[in-house]
Parts: sequence; C-alpha cells; structure tokens
Amino acid sequence: KGRPWDVRRKVRTTCPYCGTGCNFDLEVVGRPGAGEPGREEVIGVASASDGPVNGRHLCVKGRFGLSFIHHPDRLRRPLVKKEGRFVETSWEEAIALVAERFQAIRADHGGDAFGVLASAKATNEDNYLINRFARAVLGTNNIDHCARLCHASTVAGLAAAFGSGAMTNPIGDIAKSDFLLVIGSNTTESHPVLAQKLLQAIGRGTPCVVIDPRQTELAAAATNHLAIRPGGDLALLNALAHVIIAEGLSNQAFIEERTEGFAELQAAVADCTPEWAAPIAGIAPEVIRETARRYAKAERASIFYTMGITQKRTGSHNVMAIANLALLTGHIGKEGSGVNPLRGQNNVQGACDMGALPNVFPGYQPVTDPAVRAKFAGAWGVASADLAEQPGFTVGEMLEAARSGSLKAMLIVGENPVLSDPDSSHVVEALQQLECLVAVDIFLSETAQLAHVVLPACTFAEKEGTFTNTERRVQRVRQAIEPIGESRPDWRIMADLAAALGRPFDLEDPAAVMAEIARLTPSYGGVSHERIDRDGGLCWPCLSPEHPGTPRLHVDRFTRGKGRFHGVHYLPPAEATDGDYPLVLSTGRRLFHYHTGTMSRRTGLETIYPEEHLEMHPGDAAACGLVDGDWVCLSTRRGAIALPVRLTESILAGTVFTSFHFAEAAVNKLTIGVVDPVAKIPELKVCACRVERVEPP
Ligand code: SF4
Repeated sequence: KGRPWDVRRKVRTTCPYCGTGCNFDLEVVGRPGAGEPGREEVIGVASASDGPVNGRHLCVKGRFGLSFIHHPDRLRRPLVKKEGRFVETSWEEAIALVAERFQAIRADHGGDAFGVLASAKATNEDNYLINRFARAVLGTNNIDHCARLCHASTVAGLAAAFGSGAMTNPIGDIAKSDFLLVIGSNTTESHPVLAQKLLQAIGRGTPCVVIDPRQTELAAAATNHLAIRPGGDLALLNALAHVIIAEGLSNQAFIEERTEGFAELQAAVADCTPEWAAPIAGIAPEVIRETARRYAKAERASIFYTMGITQKRTGSHNVMAIANLALLTGHIGKEGSGVNPLRGQNNVQGACDMGALPNVFPGYQPVTDPAVRAKFAGAWGVASADLAEQPGFTVGEMLEAARSGSLKAMLIVGENPVLSDPDSSHVVEALQQLECLVAVDIFLSETAQLAHVVLPACTFAEKEGTFTNTERRVQRVRQAIEPIGESRPDWRIMADLAAALGRPFDLEDPAAVMAEIARLTPSYGGVSHERIDRDGGLCWPCLSPEHPGTPRLHVDRFTRGKGRFHGVHYLPPAEATDGDYPLVLSTGRRLFHYHTGTMSRRTGLETIYPEEHLEMHPGDAAACGLVDGDWVCLSTRRGAIALPVRLTESILAGTVFTSFHFAEAAVNKLTIGVVDPVAKIPELKVCACRVERVEPP
C-alpha cells in the first residue's frame, strides 16, 4: 500500500454510492502500466472543496468505503459454468459463447424471449448501450432495472402530475426553503450529505416536519416528528389536502392559471377529514391540521420523499397525492419550493434517463410512438420494424415469464435481484429456469452465482463516463487506474456482444457514446464530456450546447403544460396483521452499507457494521419474552430468517425493521411481491410478520 506522500495523481470523480452525487478526488499511487507490484492503485479519497453538491463534505461511504476497488474477490477473467462449476476462460471464448446461445434463442423464440436488467450503478454511457443492445440487437423492450424497486412510482406519479418524474429543485434550494416536509425518507442514513443540508437548515431555525414510523436521526432533530403507522401515507396526504381546501389555504390564482383537474381532487378528499385519517395514520387530528396549515402558509415550502412513499401498492397514488399538495399551494417552480424524490443509487436517475425502462427510449420517448421508433432505428442502422412496438416486461414480469418458461435468457448487468427483489425464493426459482443467464458484474454476487456465463466489469474508478445525480445533474466519472485483471467497462462489453451478434455499434469511447445520446435525447442535447470537463456538471433539460441547463423545473409552465390534480384514494396495505403474524415488517437501509452489500461489505465499513439486527420496540419484545441481543426467527408467509434483536424506543410499537444489505439475513425472502398496478413497484415497506426466540447459531 502507498502512503499519503506517495500519491502521484489525484483524479476528480463522482461517488459510486448514493444519488446525492458528491465529488471527490481519488488518490492514486504507483506507475501506469507497471506490473504488480508497482501498478497504479487507489489508496484514498480527498475532498474536493469545489464539489457543486457537497463542497468538502463526504459521508463515511464516500470517504472510507472505496477499498472494494482492489478487493481480492474482484472478478478478473470471464467465467463459464461447466458441470456446475465456474471455469475461467478468455474474453474471445466467453463472448463467442454468449453470442452463439443468444443467436440460437433469438432464432428459435424471437427477441421477446430475452430480458435485460441494466444497472443504476453503471454510467449513463453504459446504460445507453445496454438499452441499445436490448432494443436494436436482441430486438426486445424487455429492459428494466432497480428503479422498479425504488422510484418507478415517482416516474409514473410525477410524470402524470407535472410531466416529468424527477426532483424539481436543486439540492442547494434546501437553504432557501421556509418549511421542509420530509416523508418516508431516512435521509441521514440513505443520503447523508444531503441530510446535512437539511440539518443545517433546521439548525438555522427552518421548521421541518418529518413523517416516518421510526425516529430517525433527522426525525429526532426535526421541529416535529409524526410517527406514522406504516401504510397510512395516502390517508394522511389526502387529509392534508382536505384541510388546505376546507380552511381556504389553497392558492386559487395558481390553481386557476397553472393547473387542471381541481374538481377531481376536491371530490376525492371531501370526506378525508383529519378525524377520518387519524386512526389510519396514527396521528392526532390537530397535528394533521397544524401540519397542513404550516405547509400551506409558508412562503417557500419543499417536500422530500423516498421509499416510504414509493414502495407501496399505492406508490404512484402516494406520489400523486404529494404532487396535489404542491399544486394546491403553488409550492413548485420557485426557489425553495418544490417536490423532491431523492433518488437512491448513484445513477438511478441516469439509468431511467437512458431508457433502461420497458416503455421508453432514452429521454422518456415512448416506444409506442412510430416517429420515435423511426428516429432510433435510423440512428442505430436497423429497420423500424426491428424495434419492438409495445412496452416490454418489468423486472417482476420478466421473472414471472422466466418461471413460466416463455422468457429463455437474461442479461443482468450489475444488479443482484436474488437479494434485492421481494419474495426472493421465487426470484431464484425463476433464474434457475433460464436456458441462458449472463451476468456482468465486478463481484460474483448471489445472482451471478446462478449464471451460465459471468463477464468481469470495471468499477467506476477504472472507466470514463457520467452519472446523473438526484437533482438531474450530469457529472463526470473519470478513470483513475487501469482495469483490474482483464475486466472491461460495461459499455465496451455491450459493444463486444453487439459486434459478435452482427450489429456493431461503431462507437470508440464513452465521449462518442455521449455524443450519440445528445443527438437522440432532447433533454441531454447540450451535454458532452468536453463541456462538463470545462464548465462542470449540467442539470437536464439541457437542450443545446448553448443552453445553461435547468436546475429548477416547471418555473413558468409544467413540462406537460398544466399541472394535473389526481383524485386518489386510500387503500390499506395488501397484507394485514393477524393472530399468526401480528407485527408489521418494514425494510430499509443503514448508513454504513449500500444495497445488497456487494461493494460496501468488501471495505473497512464491514468491520464497523459487520452484522444485521432487527429493531423492535421494548413493549413488543416484552410481550414475546425477548431481551436485547436475543436471537430471533423473523418469519412471514413466504419464509424465515434468523438474526439478533435490538430493542429501541425509536421504532413504533407493533413494527419491526431491518435492512436488506446482508445475505446472511436476507430479508427479501420474507417481503411480499404485491405491486402497484401502475408502476409495478413492490410493497417492500409493509408486510405481516412474527418474531420468535431461537438459540444463537
Ligand atoms: Fe457518496 Fe452519497 Fe455519501 Fe455523498 S452522501 S459521499 S454521494 S454515499
């Protein structure tokens, strides 16, 4: 290992963990091209004081969570499974094998026999070519990614209300708000640097209401914490709208000039009094009234939300109900006023923008539009008829089709559905049915272990490209070191596969890929590597090389023209508690880890947080005869896991919580596969469970 004084180069790049999009410098020691030892290595991270989002701030993951880059588990050569065991092979053989199997499946069953999962961890350029590979090479719209599990309901809900399913304001606007409403977001653990901006605002005296079943760090610091019952969100949001209308607090001029559908909302919330919502949400009527008044009367108010809102069977309606509040009060399209879904992974916004969704090409251009299909077909050198006309399968639908046998092959890039998707025993069963599963990854994840062929990919430190953060800012990812082993960047793997399947891309590097993206995607029309290198990150829409980008959306008009109210109605969670399963299970994230732990658990963070536990209220524990540290069997109708229990007053009685980071306590064996009918997002935040004491392993 090098020492700080050995650092030869610093390379400015963007964090590969959460969607906040912090910038920092990777510190590199060693010599380029030298063999081991002596080759270049990333030994640390230095703050970049001019980072547009974070300045000098970094959280523990960005600062200390990057040693996975050089972890011995990194995949270095392609792997092919022979007689149940992986055998290393050359790239030539691996690509030829995949091409041969894919060609045979395409000839026998057509393009829709394939499913492709793109990656919210990969760059825009990677995702764009995964999208092109699925549609123009394989001939299917069966492409999706983990946005289906986090903000698919935002994309659907906000697009219906505003015309654009993204954060409306820049992160810097937190400092300009007079009132902050945070609902269903454990911001301090999931978006730590962004949470610091909220905490700083609270420290300066900005009122902040946090609505969450748990007393998170942000909830503890907030002016008010409303400990909502899991699943009560839509009742509460409709009651807030009811109070705003009933008490004459709505912004009539804004409603008349800039919105449509007000009567629909008025009718839908007419009976949603605070007294009606109180027992559902577990929040007193007077507190609901007071919250509505404070939000409506603020000069500039912002709402922030994440998966507590979206991961419900009413996820898209929950999002529409949030949009209703902004439209009622005119808290949108202004400095410090807006609706802000905080995107989870580093590039989940970008993966959506790049068309890693079954119904849209890059830039949310519908696959059903013949003119759009003709444009992409022309650019990609295929006939319009080669591009599928109908939206493809979501990830859940792909797995269902794999189980039933109609989907024959999948290409999974940097995703780990075996741990991240609900009811994961069924996920394993589906993947095992496939004739050909190809995984592209940096480690042999639980999903990659099931593959027939595994192709080793580069980490963010070994490639060029861009990530788009939660505020729609397209930022550069820069190569600091040579690829580890024989790993290749995802964009190149896609190009190699496309060439082997007879439809080469002819794009020599990620800058050329971005140039093609800009030509075909109006909202990225003015984005180029050269411009970002010169001027810094750009918030889309950025329509031309002269366009300055758009930090704030919907200023004079909504993307869809007028803002649209939606009358949406409360539905209880799909699975109610009962005598057999008397507690509510909710899942989420921890500060020290990320997603399925493939990266963060191969860093020093693992020594700080090596094991998962179940959070439980002391009252519930007493009723089960449990004390702090006991091991328990946590079970639902779908499975059971064992883990230790930690007692805490910060969780609502009747509710238990754990994260999905740990394969040893794979909580998604337990979660429910019921989905929102619009966005097809699963109800990961609520299901019925029981807890019983067991002997430690
Ligand atoms: Fe990385 Fe997010 Fe932490 Fe910033 S807040 S350093 S982007 S994980």
